[in-house]
Amino acid sequence: MLPTDRVARFRERYRAGISPRYSGPLHALWVAAVGVSAMLFAASRLHEVQALEWLVLLLALLTGNVGEYLIHRRLGHRLWKPARLFHQRHTGDHHHFFTADAMCWDSPRDWRVVLFPGWLIVVVLALVAAPGGWLLAWLAGDNAGWLWVLGVTATYLLYETLHFSYHLPEDHVVHRRLPGLRRLRALHQLHHRPEEMTRTNFNLTFPLTDWLAGTLKEPTSR
Ligand SMILES: [Zn+2]
Ligand SMILES: [Zn+2]
Repeated sequence: MLPTDRVARFRERYRAGISPRYSGPLHALWVAAVGVSAMLFAASRLHEVQALEWLVLLLALLTGNVGEYLIHRRLGHRLWKPARLFHQRHTGDHHHFFTADAMCWDSPRDWRVVLFPGWLIVVVLALVAAPGGWLLAWLAGDNAGWLWVLGVTATYLLYETLHFSYHLPEDHVVHRRLPGLRRLRALHQLHHRPEEMTRTNFNLTFPLTDWLAGTLKEPTSR
């Protein structure tokens, strides 16, 4: 579906503000390179992982699921001054650029409004992955620490990849081929309705925390 006039005008204004030097593919490549390198490095440090130690990976993935929900709901859709930039990029830009009736980007320059800023993955590695990894390594051994780093980074990349796929056309090959992806896209599309964005479907990966918090809404139940 074509964007409405309001969305089209917003897109025009937003695009006019993107630096001519911006490159969507380089942006995506940077995030992938940093994330995959961190994951490979963490995986290379693992040594004879015991069954119980794998629970740390599960813990990191679950923490990531709750984290994405809370950050999206509390900071993306509510203005808290110290996180003003995030709120502006999310509610101000992302939700005005994409609505439920206009979910797709037109050119790789639009990836600027789909992906997180390139510096954020470095901040997450420095402030979430590394300190948590050190603490867990100290408490439960090196494997636990590296599994935490692995899980946090995997969550970040999963978020970026899945969210990126939701802003591809509904009939794109990835949605036709990957089981379940179309449903996740439909959940996010519902979240992009202005009347739903502060109420439903805050998970971007798997809707676990939404389900637990009672904010999961299927598109058909509108
Ligand atoms: Zn979105
Ligand atoms: Zn949102």
